[in-house]
Amino acid sequence: MMTLFQPDLLFARGRFHAGAGLLVDAKGVIVALKLLEESGNLSATLPADVDVVRLPGTALLPGFVNVHSHSFQRLIRGRTESRRSGGRDFWSWRGAMYHATAALSPEQVYHVARMTFLEMAMAGTTTVGEFHYVHRAPDGRPYPDPNLLAHQVIAAARSVGIRIALLRTAYQRAGFDLPPDPGQTRFLETTDEFLANAADLHRQYHSTDAWVGVAPHSVRAVPMDAIQQIAAWARENGLPVHMHVSEQIAEVTACQREYGTTPVRLLAQHGVLDDRLTAVHAIHIDREEMDLLATSSANICSCPTTERNLGDGIFPARDAMERGIPVAFGSDSQAQIDPLEDARELEYHLRLQHQQRSLLDGIDGQELSSRLFRCATANGAAALGCPAGELAEGKLADFFTVDLNDVLIAGNNPDDLLSMIVFGLDRSAIADVSVGGKFLVRDHRHPHQQEILNEYLEVARKVWPTQQLAAK
Ligand SMILES: [Zn+2]
Repeated sequence: MMTLFQPDLLFARGRFHAGAGLLVDAKGVIVALKLLEESGNLSATLPADVDVVRLPGTALLPGFVNVHSHSFQRLIRGRTESRRSGGRDFWSWRGAMYHATAALSPEQVYHVARMTFLEMAMAGTTTVGEFHYVHRAPDGRPYPDPNLLAHQVIAAARSVGIRIALLRTAYQRAGFDLPPDPGQTRFLETTDEFLANAADLHRQYHSTDAWVGVAPHSVRAVPMDAIQQIAAWARENGLPVHMHVSEQIAEVTACQREYGTTPVRLLAQHGVLDDRLTAVHAIHIDREEMDLLATSSANICSCPTTERNLGDGIFPARDAMERGIPVAFGSDSQAQIDPLEDARELEYHLRLQHQQRSLLDGIDGQELSSRLFRCATANGAAALGCPAGELAEGKLADFFTVDLNDVLIAGNNPDDLLSMIVFGLDRSAIADVSVGGKFLVRDHRHPHQQEILNEYLEVARKVWPTQQLAAK
């Protein structure tokens, strides 16, 4: 049985179409875009047994792809925003984050991940890349199944209904010349352990609803020979490779002390840069490093809402885009989960820095809003190896709808609607969310919303016992 989704406006091929429909097969794949200008009379060109789902008063757009998430960090939102609780920089913030992680049980990991993924779904996100590095029990021993926590996170995504790329993360040391950090005992695995566990996980998950990638955490946390081995294994298996790269200046100077060069140059020298790699952050890199990323066809994942929260620095987005490097977005620390805020912030940071406007407009002839929207959708799908991110034949039917009568975008017309969405929308105007043609959010509600919230509140009460949390 096929389904035709029929909104007032449908965003495809770079613009909105009125009176169009999206024809989806039983497997959740887009079979055809039914555009009025091509089909004339829509109903005349449909197969006989089509279920028509009308979505009046809405615009339908491809779902967002969140390329970089640490779901458990949702627990520290709002709890690290003073010097007393979060210190004054990234490194002291990290101490608070380790505190939240220290004692989480597998069930709690599941409940926190569900809360995070629910919030993503309600913001129009249909796929997440989870950069997952909590592997061991609180005492540092592996669980009987060393992938137990990865299973929990994948189960959480499935229960909410979004797709997940589990980017299994390798973590081996505190850093060059640094003593072991007790806050990291749950993350550590040798290269052999990591490769065996990643292979086992890959055997179990290789469908379009859950699949595996690898993530050597950073050049700080994983020695170069191990990064090479892990990247080579991923290449043999056709899996994505993600890494934190140059988020903090201290990380770059430590790399220079250890290897005599900067992180991107180091990765290039060791053959790790290729189109399979996504460099997360890539803030403190120079133009020559940007050239290296461009010539190797690597991707960049920028996380502007986290980077501004942590005081990381400003990603040189214009340098990346002028070189044709595909940029995607991640919610990272979950300080905020709003892909459109990440999109507009990429541009806004540059405006504050250069005291100019529309700095990312017109590069390669691409209009600003289309470019930012593409970063949040198709570029993200490419970075995770997922056949989604745009509404086109053969792609997965992952989409969200926007209430065209919402006050946030009052006065819109099809020509300026995308700009209004990119620069003015928040999740309150997102009405429905579909993954593979199945609604997980309908009319602003997820069916398990209240239960997910209640379970999360219990975990939050245990992790932050002095705080007063009231269930509604
Ligand atoms: Zn991260």
